[in-house]
Amino acid sequence: MAQVPAAAPLQFDNRFVAELPGDPETGPRRREVLGAAWSSVRPTPVAAPRLLAYSREMAESLGLDAATVASPEFAQVFAGNALWPGMQPYAANYGGHQFGHWAGQLGDGRAITLGEAIDAQGRRQELQLKGAGPTPYSRTADGRAVLRSSIREFLCSEAMHHLGVPTTRALCLVGTGEAVLRDMFYDGHPEHEPGAIVCRVAPSFLRFGNFELPSARGDSVLLRRLVEFCIRRDYPELSGEGEALHVEWFARICERTAVMVAHWMRVGFVHGVMNTDNMSILGLTLDYGPYGWIDDYDPDWTPNTTDAQGRRYRFGWQPRIAWWNLTRLAQALAPLFASVEPLNDGLQRYGQALARAERDVVAGKLGLDGCRDGDAVLYSDLLALLHAGETDMTIFFRALGETDPASASPEDFAAAYYDEARRDAVAGDLAAWLARYARRLGEDDLPDAVRRERMRLANPRYVLRNYLAQQAIDRAHAGDMGGIDELLEVMRRPYEDQPGRERYAQRRPDWARERAGCSMLSCSS
Ligand code: AMP
Ligand code: MG
Repeated sequence: MAQVPAAAPLQFDNRFVAELPGDPETGPRRREVLGAAWSSVRPTPVAAPRLLAYSREMAESLGLDAATVASPEFAQVFAGNALWPGMQPYAANYGGHQFGHWAGQLGDGRAITLGEAIDAQGRRQELQLKGAGPTPYSRTADGRAVLRSSIREFLCSEAMHHLGVPTTRALCLVGTGEAVLRDMFYDGHPEHEPGAIVCRVAPSFLRFGNFELPSARGDSVLLRRLVEFCIRRDYPELSGEGEALHVEWFARICERTAVMVAHWMRVGFVHGVMNTDNMSILGLTLDYGPYGWIDDYDPDWTPNTTDAQGRRYRFGWQPRIAWWNLTRLAQALAPLFASVEPLNDGLQRYGQALARAERDVVAGKLGLDGCRDGDAVLYSDLLALLHAGETDMTIFFRALGETDPASASPEDFAAAYYDEARRDAVAGDLAAWLARYARRLGEDDLPDAVRRERMRLANPRYVLRNYLAQQAIDRAHAGDMGGIDELLEVMRRPYEDQPGRERYAQRRPDWARERAGCSMLSCSS
């Protein structure tokens, strides 16, 4: 593998590998890795790297200019065929609870961090390739990723960012020119699909599972080092020392997780695989796999076919699953604490932060001047009507912000319904709700223009509807990458009306109701 070029386009400061113990063995031989937070492993080169898409904003914030991004060398580096000076590739070691059960060592099985870049503003940005080949943590799998899931991760990372949801980012999407074998529905029909690699970006990719693994192994030395490292590098704003510092750190993780989940509930995002190895220590949305977006409002919906039975990761359960995951983290951290009291206090901060964030969501989505007693009920009554009426969540809330509440009627929401009979069945109740809403707005002193503006900023016009992503994927499979850029362009300004782009804000079409990729997604990626 070549080291190119002489002048480094990025500066690196690789604290993870400098400050935490590494695995003495290098290379991808599959193994249990004890006493180490990471294993040195290089990406496996691919046949024909080709830059398929990139995020302008992410490149700019890293200080990468358009000429650098367009250079053949850029595609080589982000396909894993070459390294820039200062890159020190490694795979992280972590465990996790998957679907409620402890799974032991998992680790970066197909993610390889290239290094910690210091961006143009002096911020730390870890660059991580997903799909760059096997690592010690790949178990029986190939370390690769297919184009369809890579497009989904690339687009959703950036769409979430523009929606104002805490998330890991994506710099670029590179085609490998190699085929990857996948059995999409685990039904014994594997097929070759085009391979791709996404470069993800975040200040830290530490997960709850990084702490759970050493704890489960009784390795409190490594556990303590990880905690202290994470506080120093990822929570520099925290001061103090000893147990008090650890307590405050855990409480902040709880609060950030609460804020993240409240945003998911606001925009209608369903993560789909909230295993503890997919929970970021910074409260960032992490690991875009079989995620989905709510079309018709249904709190019981999960996009993940692997979760179809128990629907553990259904939309409406996300706040409680996040809490369950935090209790697993608390349990993992317990060996560092004299008693569990302070950890329980931290978990309380999750509840408080969630309640605050949910009140903000209610106030924003309904355009209220602050959420008062009774407003949560007003909101949940509306959600029940949206569910009963099979109503598109995004279209409904956007329309609600555009109606005149004094004269609003169910007809104002015609574009949001998927089923006429169900629409008609709730029309009377919706009219009554609208009257209640108008009375409630009357109690505020907000000028109508202010209310509308607040609602516009809380209720996106555009979200990354599952079928829209699938259409971009279908085009990419036919050799046309234009759909990816078009969708990214729309998602750059999700709260603005974009004349000529109305089709991206429409209801899911009927054909997409039961189609793979549009309403059902498997973990196969
Ligand atoms: P996920 O469900 O995507 O969060 O992945 C769970 C675990 O499986 C993680 O340790 C991943 O690194 C690993 N994994 C998933 N897909 C692959 C793959 N194609 N090759 C190697 N490891 C994988
Ligand atoms: Mg994962």
